Amino acid sequence: MSSGPDQQHGVYSAMTTALFSHSDCDLHVEPPGHPEQSARLAAVAHALAGMDLLRLDAPLGTDTDILRCHPAPYIARIRKAIPATGWSQVDGDTYLAPGSLQAALRGVGGVCAAVDLVLSGGASNAFVASRPPGHHAETNTAMGFCIFGNIATAAKHALDHHGLSRVAVVDFDVHHGNGTQDLLWNEPRVLFASSHQMPLYPGTGAENEVGAHRQIINIPLRAGSTGADMRAAYATHILPKIVSFAPELILVSAGFDAHRDDPLANLNWSVADFTWLTQQICDLADAHCAGRVVSALEGGYDLDALAACAAAHVTVLKDRGYAR
Ligand SMILES: [Zn+2]
Repeated sequence: MSSGPDQQHGVYSAMTTALFSHSDCDLHVEPPGHPEQSARLAAVAHALAGMDLLRLDAPLGTDTDILRCHPAPYIARIRKAIPATGWSQVDGDTYLAPGSLQAALRGVGGVCAAVDLVLSGGASNAFVASRPPGHHAETNTAMGFCIFGNIATAAKHALDHHGLSRVAVVDFDVHHGNGTQDLLWNEPRVLFASSHQMPLYPGTGAENEVGAHRQIINIPLRAGSTGADMRAAYATHILPKIVSFAPELILVSAGFDAHRDDPLANLNWSVADFTWLTQQICDLADAHCAGRVVSALEGGYDLDALAACAAAHVTVLKDRGYAR
């Protein structure tokens, strides 16, 4: 570890925000009409195009990375399910194309490389723009457009490879991060906090789902609720618990489908609400872990809202990166 709490007020060699992505993510082609399309990543890339970011190719994730969350037979099953042409279906709404494994591996590799870079002091924080998303993928199950649990993999990488003791994961995608919860259910070194609309897909995420070590916080939000409701819920139920946990790194499952224009859900958050929430996360990171935040794209299906929210999110990360 080249950085730690003693450097919270120190000078960083690379006061910047890293952006990890890769063109291979476009190889994950879903059938026409499917909401999880390459156009999403194009919209995010366009929105971030003018920003001064450290732009890096997401490397391919390795079996070592994935095996911290998913067993070998599951990885083998995904490899075997990759079709030579067209699509294979691995879940009610999750399809694999010939390039889907390549794309999914960029997501795993991107988050792990982002953790490496931020923990080494090579960047203040990082955003990983990849697809498919990851937070619905359970230990043995691809679902909800997701194949591998990217953010849970990043958490395990930070713990087991880098030797961290406490990692917080904040998931503000409008859908419950059931996969992340499943992968981290027995992991006492991770505080997992998820806000999500309920009832809504995937149906999990009730307040009484607390993990094996009471280290999971689920905050269901009612359909039609507003950004003000979200801010109150975070201020009351999530942010104080992250403070008590004193994480050494904060990971973010950044889905932008709680925006009021998103077609897959019914929350009424604005771009300003995503800015506020990112600021709160960065405040906690500044106070507890030298500003170290690694955020990864999850959902967001209205292209204009996705672009605006991702730009707002990364703008906060960038401003904080330079301020360090
Ligand atoms: Zn979502």
